[in-house]
Amino acid sequence: MYQRYIDGASLGTITNELEANQVTSLSGSPKWSRSVIDKMLSNGKYVPYAIPMELFVAAQIEKDSRTNIHINSDGSTPRKTTRYSSQNVLSGLLVCAECGSNYRRITRLNGEVVWRCSDRVEKGKQSVCKYSPSIADRN
Ligand SMILES: [Zn+2]
Repeated sequence: MYQRYIDGASLGTITNELEANQVTSLSGSPKWSRSVIDKMLSNGKYVPYAIPMELFVAAQIEKDSRTNIHINSDGSTPRKTTRYSSQNVLSGLLVCAECGSNYRRITRLNGEVVWRCSDRVEKGKQSVCKYSPSIADRN
């Protein structure tokens, strides 16, 4: 679904494809609506279990580029020059599927940058959250 969106498919097209493939929605219904899909595209709760991180980030960027149209004062539309870093895109969006805390970007001692459930970062072994994955950041 995310991949199709990034490829440029409209919400309507994705709706039809999901129904054609008899994919059931979260409520168990075979019917999909655009608003449900729109919500899923924006909601970090479906990450990282449902889809790879890169796909989610790409979907956010695609969503943003579709909804924001910048127009210069002279009426022309400039090329988009905004560069996204995964930090900007993901902060506040990525939610731990296990405990509901936000994910946080941390740098490990070895310099590796990963996203981790903030509850686990803060409480370590005391955290209620035991199995949420750490996700490597490419940058
Ligand atoms: Zn957690």
